[in-house]
Amino acid sequence: MSIILLLQNGRIIDPANSLDQDGDVLIADGCIQQIAAPGSLTCPDNGKSVNLKGKWLVPGLIDMHVHLREPGEEYKETVASGTKAAAAGGFTAVACMPNTSPVNDNQSVTSFILAKAKEAGSARVYPVGAISNNSEGTILSEFGELKNAGVVALSDDGRPVANSQLMRRALEYSGSHGLLVISHAEEMSLSENGVMNESNLSTRLGLRGIPRVAEEIMIYRDLALAEYVNRPIHIAHISTRESVDLIRRAKAKGCQVTAETTPHYFSLTEEAVGKYDTRAKMNPPLRTADDMTAIREGLQDGTIDAIATDHAPHSAMEKEVEFDRAANGIIGLETSVPLTLALVRENILTPTRMIELLSVSPAHILGVPGGSLSEGEVADVTIVDPEKSFVYSLDKVVSKNSNSPFLDWEMTGKAVMTIMGGEITFSEM
Ligand SMILES: [Zn+2]
Repeated sequence: MSIILLLQNGRIIDPANSLDQDGDVLIADGCIQQIAAPGSLTCPDNGKSVNLKGKWLVPGLIDMHVHLREPGEEYKETVASGTKAAAAGGFTAVACMPNTSPVNDNQSVTSFILAKAKEAGSARVYPVGAISNNSEGTILSEFGELKNAGVVALSDDGRPVANSQLMRRALEYSGSHGLLVISHAEEMSLSENGVMNESNLSTRLGLRGIPRVAEEIMIYRDLALAEYVNRPIHIAHISTRESVDLIRRAKAKGCQVTAETTPHYFSLTEEAVGKYDTRAKMNPPLRTADDMTAIREGLQDGTIDAIATDHAPHSAMEKEVEFDRAANGIIGLETSVPLTLALVRENILTPTRMIELLSVSPAHILGVPGGSLSEGEVADVTIVDPEKSFVYSLDKVVSKNSNSPFLDWEMTGKAVMTIMGGEITFSEM
């Protein structure tokens, strides 16, 4: 039986309904029953009330880009452990990329992931299907089959669709199935064998660089293709100034483009690689201070639509090795809220803009439920304490692995309660 929950005196931030004011929210039968002025609702005898003084009550956060590693790499993460980390980070839903083993290019893998998610019950999981068979970039996967099985978008994430003709066809055929194409933008002939941003620093460290144009050229190609066939496209994890500019110009022309970035691109620069720290190794790589500034501007002015984590767990075995050999990627679900709140404190984002980036836009882009707090809607709700200080220490990590450059950082602000469909999936209150 689902609980009755009265959330009192919270700061309700609900951009979809242009709301930012204090109030009470009553949740019962898995739905938002009533939103009212602070102190105006009384808790039913069989209900539980929670005082939210000083805390934010926002629509459940949605991370549109994570790697849950199941099936096939359960030692890195499982659907259960990944969604538990999601709940701990304030997320009620995640979209998981198809680069599992086997690749999610058919209905049996999609169904398996959805069954695991239902069993775990910690967060909604929206699988992303592969664009091509085994994400090999040669033959398109069966979009209709994937759609029927429940995928919400298509991507060969982890690698680009190198063949332009295949990408064109993917954009065209995805339309008849109402599926969005998500581009992992990378020109492999330029990035090949690179392990960090190509710069003076990479030269100094003696590491092979990935030039920024490896990302930008592919964004340019994908924008051109999407415009040519008049189809929407979403660009994943953008990291450079020119990438932001390309998307800004495409939007100004009226192209149907959306884009995401990750907390590490607005919180860190290539300097984090420092003494060959493999926790700062990811693809695309961390860039320069100027790129970081441009990413922040893009988040502020609406060029970048969403913040996603690209949560990419790896075991110590894959990370605690020479920089050249270390796997790409970091975990991110548990640090997204505090890192984004840092931009709010710096007056780069308003609280409303932050919730747009972390909830409203991801729901809208993927065409999934959520992103608003209207009465009668399913109660996916996140409670954020913007002032709570904590150290993201090893013992606090919920994800199965701890490959994070933010480990042992002192952070301010975090999700303190996560509610999915009226059930509490995480609470520190
Ligand atoms: Zn990617």
